[in-house]
Amino acid sequence: MTMAPDLIDRFTAIVGDKYALRDDADTAPYRHELRKLFHGETPLVLRPASTDEVAAILRLASETGTAIVPQGGNTGLVGGQTPDDTGSQIILSLSRLCAIREIDTDAGTMTVEAGVPLQTVRQAAADRDLMFPLSIASQGTAQIGGILATNAGGVNVLANGNARDLCLGLEVVLPSGEVLDDLRKLRKDNSGYDLKNLFVGAEGTLGVITAAVLKLAPQPKGRQIAWATVGKPADALKLFRHAASAAGGALTAFELMADRAVRLAQDHISDVRVPIQDEAAWHVLIEISSGRSEEEARGLAEEILSAALDKGTVIDAVLASSIAQGADFWKVRESIPDAQRVEGASIKHDISVPVSSIPAFIAEAGAAVEKTTPEGRLVCFGHMGDGNLHFNVQGPSGAGDEFLSKWKPLNAAVHEVVRRFGGSFAAEHGVGALKRDELIATKSAVALDLMRRIKQTLDPACIMNPGKVI
Ligand SMILES: Cc1cc2nc3c(=O)[nH]c(=O)nc-3n(C[C@H](O)[C@H](O)[C@H](O)COP(=O)(O)OP(=O)(O)OC[C@H]3O[C@@H](n4cnc5c(N)ncnc54)[C@H](O)[C@@H]3O)c2cc1C
Repeated sequence: MTMAPDLIDRFTAIVGDKYALRDDADTAPYRHELRKLFHGETPLVLRPASTDEVAAILRLASETGTAIVPQGGNTGLVGGQTPDDTGSQIILSLSRLCAIREIDTDAGTMTVEAGVPLQTVRQAAADRDLMFPLSIASQGTAQIGGILATNAGGVNVLANGNARDLCLGLEVVLPSGEVLDDLRKLRKDNSGYDLKNLFVGAEGTLGVITAAVLKLAPQPKGRQIAWATVGKPADALKLFRHAASAAGGALTAFELMADRAVRLAQDHISDVRVPIQDEAAWHVLIEISSGRSEEEARGLAEEILSAALDKGTVIDAVLASSIAQGADFWKVRESIPDAQRVEGASIKHDISVPVSSIPAFIAEAGAAVEKTTPEGRLVCFGHMGDGNLHFNVQGPSGAGDEFLSKWKPLNAAVHEVVRRFGGSFAAEHGVGALKRDELIATKSAVALDLMRRIKQTLDPACIMNPGKVI
């Protein structure tokens, strides 16, 4: 299917020739994502510079029934930002909406446009001795609009919540072209339905986020990173319970990694060294933050780990002796996805279960993997404190795309275990195109009907990101 030239011209007129990309070479970077797992066709990439231009684009799209695929930093992992292969969907890039409109240090808020990269937001907050706590490995490229549209999580959800918890207000262009201006800085507002939360996590299927008011936190005065090894996930759970009760809100990260995951990072990524080299079955990274001092953070971490060593919960533990060494510990954790890519093809599961079920889940889902794909190698790691694991299965060494033919049966086997534990098959990366069928197969009839009615009400012409989520 192609798009009529006069329609392309009408869309182009809204942003100007320079910002309406038509040539294959110009649109290529927008048509596929990093891993090239998802790719599509488009007649046009539009790069508007203002909310008014976005509104004009959606008005015309609604009038002409033209599908629009919003795109931020293009780092999404479930194909939500990629057009289909019909060549009839326009990509709407938000990257030119990149102003920080206001930082209110007294209210602890930052009002930013959708195209501002997460790292820029974090740096702007840090420059004022404040912190925007959301942190993910793709933060140099991922943009605030995408972060909110996917309700991104990352490594600090334990203490500060995910993107939804860090958003106080939104500006959204509805499919009709109307602008919902809800850019408020209120921490309390019970005046009716919470409309902004319809758009957070909607993956661009209900409207286009053009700006947001973000919640900032004070910068911690001290931070201590520690690494520990445990013999089994049940011991990691004991350590987590102890750390959470001893440190309370000061426990800002608790990451669990299988030995195979950290070895892959060490083998494939330069400057990565696992802090404890014993062949322990599982590794844990703990981050303690103190609002008072480095000494307090260090003292708390020491107390937690020495108690765990005494009880035999932990095999070995080491505290980072400097900020640089703490960053090295984090680098091991954050390099695992890249190391998996270097190692070869792998099949991913981004799941969550109640934290208390993590050990039993790992055992049962591990058995399901072995039965379904005996040649697969489990590479399990993730945000254990949030009950969120990346339960990935690596193909045999050097495996190519043929291993991906196991994707569906393997997903089905693992997600069946997820369901038994009352978990989610889409913990933080979203549904996009990848997991739409799974969502339709597993949500209750009532929930699905409600989702469809919300979609129909807001987007009756179905122009917003068709084929994604629902
Ligand atoms: C190395 C790496 C590490 C990652 N780590 C994490 C992690 O720890 N936690 C996590 O949650 N995710 C993680 N991700 C996934 C990804 O970075 C996040 O989903 C991120 O929020 C996507 O932001 P983006 O700007 O790149 O959005 P895109 O990829 O461009 O888009 C994602 C979705 O949001 C929609 N969208 C984008 N902008 C808008 C907008 N302005 N209005 C409406 N809809 C919009 C798109 O249509 C699409 O459905 C990781 C990705 C990579 C590559």
